[in-house]
Amino acid sequence: MVELKDVSVKYSTGVDALNHINLRINDGDFAFVVGSSGAGKSTMIKLLLKEIDATEGTVCVNGYHLNKLKRRKIPELRRTIGIVFQDFRLIPTMTVYENIAFVLRVIDAPTKYIKKRVAYVIGLVGLQDKAKHFPSELSGGEMQRVAIARALVNDPKLIIADEPTGNIDPELSFEIVELLKSINACGTTILMVTHEHELVRHFGGRIINIDNGEIVFDDIMEGTDEI
Ligand code: ADP
Repeated sequence: MVELKDVSVKYSTGVDALNHINLRINDGDFAFVVGSSGAGKSTMIKLLLKEIDATEGTVCVNGYHLNKLKRRKIPELRRTIGIVFQDFRLIPTMTVYENIAFVLRVIDAPTKYIKKRVAYVIGLVGLQDKAKHFPSELSGGEMQRVAIARALVNDPKLIIADEPTGNIDPELSFEIVELLKSINACGTTILMVTHEHELVRHFGGRIINIDNGEIVFDDIMEGTDEI
């Protein structure tokens, strides 16, 4: 669960990036976050990861009260969140399998569990035939599937997808959102930041529009299913 109560963020430069935001995202929700460049979307993501702190207000993520969270507890918070980036951020020298397994290796998960879990998430994103391939041998859509599997492998409560379709072909963008929707249907909360209005119109659901540091729209819209 994500809860922002009367949250403001003022950068040291004097910019008010978020102004008295109130937002609640329940466990199991799927929400699109839209807004033009400079609206405050990245600032909100950074808040949820505790990369920055609120100047005012309270931030709660997955049961952690971020205002009070000790520095040494931050990794624990971040393990409850999976992140998918626009530019994939895969390690080029590692295979698909290794890119995903790496997440579990750094937290010292047992080898047997790693094998089982990585095989499971690779299957879930439909890349079982590409497990031994390197990122350079994959299409953009496939690379993003690897990134989604990597975000998912640690069984996070929340996945934040930051413009996940920004670097892939438009027709494959729909597949990426379908994949995120199917992950959401299994219980993971998903927050997807996007610029792509046609995707939002097609899928519908909860849409949070940030403009100039304020939430100017937060409601459920019917999808059109148009492409
Ligand atoms: P978005 O992700 O929607 O493009 P941001 O959250 O990056 O928007 O930015 C919101 C506002 O805060 C913008 O005016 C931006 O210039 C400013 N901003 C973002 N990061 C910083 C920073 N580290 N220091 C100062 N100002 C910043």
